[in-house]
Amino acid sequence: MSFSRADLQKLLELVAMTEAKEIDCDEFLHRVAGYLERLGPEGTPPPGYEDVVHHLQICPECLEEFRVLYQALCEES
Ligand SMILES: [Zn+2]
Repeated sequence: MSFSRADLQKLLELVAMTEAKEIDCDEFLHRVAGYLERLGPEGTPPPGYEDVVHHLQICPECLEEFRVLYQALCEES
């Protein structure tokens, strides 16, 4: 499984309708590991992490960070 723009787009669209509370970058980095651990096989966001996905939509820096982490995770397994 490799990370692609389409995967990311799908992932963001899945929660686009969801109302999420806003978190800052610190909170995001705090929660992103748990988010990645619970990510579904199709890249489905785990329940309860809408705020993390929302932050990905509004913060390019964290999106890049997420992309790197996600890629590393995929290479591991
Ligand atoms: Zn951020």
